Amino acid sequence: MPLEVRTTSTLSEAASLLQAERTARFLAGGTLLMRAVNEGDVSFSTIVRTTDPAFGRMRAAGGRIELGAGVTMAQILASRELAFLHPVARAVGGPAVRTMATVGGNLFAAHPYGDFATALLALDARLQLASGFGVREMALEEFLQARERGPRQLVTAVSFERPSDPTAFRFRKMTRTHPKGAAVVTIAALVPASGGRVSAARVALGAMAAQPIRARAIERALEGRPLTAEGVAAAVAAAAREGDPPTDALASAWYRRRVVGVVLRRLLLGEV
Ligand SMILES: Cc1cc2nc3c(=O)[nH]c(=O)nc-3n(C[C@H](O)[C@H](O)[C@H](O)COP(=O)(O)OP(=O)(O)OC[C@H]3O[C@@H](n4cnc5c(N)ncnc54)[C@H](O)[C@@H]3O)c2cc1C
Repeated sequence: MPLEVRTTSTLSEAASLLQAERTARFLAGGTLLMRAVNEGDVSFSTIVRTTDPAFGRMRAAGGRIELGAGVTMAQILASRELAFLHPVARAVGGPAVRTMATVGGNLFAAHPYGDFATALLALDARLQLASGFGVREMALEEFLQARERGPRQLVTAVSFERPSDPTAFRFRKMTRTHPKGAAVVTIAALVPASGGRVSAARVALGAMAAQPIRARAIERALEGRPLTAEGVAAAVAAAAREGDPPTDALASAWYRRRVVGVVLRRLLLGEV
């Protein structure tokens, strides 16, 4: 089937095209979309792409970080200001994938992918969404919860607060193949401490549900506790009750529930 590629010079034109043609798909880095094309997916016959410079723009210097949805993992790895996100970007595929894979595309990547989205969830990111009617903001968590049900929208940018203490941001991905396998479990956490005790932690889990999720039982169990073996024990126990992990070729749901607490304990205690 012929495939039409429409290139727009602005994000708003791209959003209007996507809205007008419900089966059109947006092309970012193409690491997933072009694979679908090559595998003969005929559910769409139009691809929309944009050359709008805003799509790949980063504002990483200040307290509020803004990443255009077209920013790639390689761009993040090249930014000194985003050093705290380098372990996250490095966890996405191999070097060839990272050259193309975008922040926005990661928000749509189905299980077991979505490592960057998991980190953004722990950072409480907000999205800018464009439609033919204009631009609106939405919390990433709300977006992910509705991702499978809602209409496809164009994500133009992502923004979040820079952690005041970069060491409070933690990320760990467990895989079966190294160095670039897909996730058995991914955990991102922001664990600010005040007087040696955790205050207002945010923890997100990847590969523990159909999409990345906030782990509220873990967050509650960490509140007011020190990051010691004893202090994190309740959070580690709570981890097995979070989410609804899928069974796939990488791991069973049972295994994911068994292992998530182990990964969480290592992440919180800084163990290898
Ligand atoms: C070999 C290989 C290894 C991989 N390893 C990992 C991994 O370890 N971790 C991981 O998380 N992912 C991995 N991925 C998946 C993928 O590369 C990443 O998730 C990547 O970030 C997707 O971004 P993209 O720009 O390539 O998306 P695309 O392929 O361009 O798009 C993917 C989907 O998202 C939609 N989309 C993209 N951008 C937008 C936007 N701004 N607004 C609206 N819709 C949009 C597209 O229409 C399409 O449906 C891997 C993929 C491959 C092929």
